[in-house]
Amino acid sequence: MAAPPIQSLVLSFEDARRVVEDHASRLSSRTTETAPLLHAAGRVLAESITADRDIPPFPRSTRDGYAVRAADLAKLPASLKVIGEIKAGPQHLPSTLNPGQAFAIMTGAPVPQGADAVVMVEYTSSQKADSVEIKKSVEPGENIVAQGAEAKHGNLLLNRGTRLNQAAIALAASVGRSRLQVFVRPQIAVLTTGDEIVEVDAEIGPTQIRNSNGYSLSVQIQQAGGEPVLLPIAPDEPRRLRQLIEEGLQSDLLIMTGGVSMGRYDLVEQVLSELQAEFLFTGAKIQPGRPVVFGHIGSEVQAPAQHKYFFGLPGNPVSTMVTFELFARPVLEALAGASPSQLTFLHARLKSEIRVKPGLTRFLPAVLSGQCEDSQVELVPWQGSGDIAAQARSNCYVVVPPDRERIAAGDWTAVTFLT
Ligand code: AMP
Ligand code: MG
Repeated sequence: MAAPPIQSLVLSFEDARRVVEDHASRLSSRTTETAPLLHAAGRVLAESITADRDIPPFPRSTRDGYAVRAADLAKLPASLKVIGEIKAGPQHLPSTLNPGQAFAIMTGAPVPQGADAVVMVEYTSSQKADSVEIKKSVEPGENIVAQGAEAKHGNLLLNRGTRLNQAAIALAASVGRSRLQVFVRPQIAVLTTGDEIVEVDAEIGPTQIRNSNGYSLSVQIQQAGGEPVLLPIAPDEPRRLRQLIEEGLQSDLLIMTGGVSMGRYDLVEQVLSELQAEFLFTGAKIQPGRPVVFGHIGSEVQAPAQHKYFFGLPGNPVSTMVTFELFARPVLEALAGASPSQLTFLHARLKSEIRVKPGLTRFLPAVLSGQCEDSQVELVPWQGSGDIAAQARSNCYVVVPPDRERIAAGDWTAVTFLT
């Protein structure tokens, strides 16, 4: 079949991101597997996790001190009779505390019945063996977490679709889950294109370029929850390129790099078009990464298993990394079963003025530094979107909106991390 003409569809950053998020919201993963707790770290939870008992399971002291009745400290100093000591994990629950009495108590120990507060040791004086003098009053409830205050038995703790970070793993451990149901990682094909591109350990000619994009993409795919499937490097030649694109379309998602600009040998869109692809956009008004392409092939309705999304990312290494984060990540995360995550921004003071031509949303490699109340950010000097060395020196991106020509030194500016 003849290839339909490719219509240029260049969207603003926000519109392109919305298109991606819209399509991502229709995707999900259904295949799950069981993973031991530690192997589940970084994976996406495929079940919901509930509390197997009240958390905490008993009123818990948050301090080392004395369990008391707050009413006994109405007049200070107060002298209370010490009737025992409660440490964390006692064999028996402590007996009831009566007026005029105190228990010495340790952090994490169960507060006895009758006690309604814990006085910290530093507010006591003259501790004899069997009595303590207290110099400061307490509010009822002070230094105690009530039974079930964090969660009640049966409460939902983690939703299906949660990415399991260290806190989520700790929470699962705390409710006795040594194995978790997680989603199977989607297979993400990586297709690097370009006649000049050679493998990392190949002998290299003076005008050849080593394939770095295949590696940055593999790292990003793994971090986003996918499993990279590296295809051979495709030359700028339509037949072989088509073969490899067809091979890549066997995976759950195809990510290509290079060959999407306007040059005579940028053949990716042409070949996709021959395969009856529908392009959702063929560019975004951003820097770096303007020629980024997003589309799909096959019918969602008639043959859902053959319906595949693809990204054509510009080959310049910084463009590849940035456009993966801005556009490919939401689709990949959805295929991995994860709940959608949003881009997040913070603000910092710009150290040196930025001047740009308006019209593009820019994500410029930068270094964020400074103190808690005084974040500062500065662009990394760079030679443009091919400069991986500059990007490797950066730790964030300054975001310049498309209507800005200048941001003055000292102005607050938006920053994002893109991970
Ligand atoms: P292209 O998008 O194909 O026009 O490539 C843009 C620039 O990125 C060219 O300088 C390419 O040599 C370079 N490039 C393309 N693919 C890669 C790759 N896989 N690794 C490193 N550089 C690349
Ligand atoms: Mg190329």
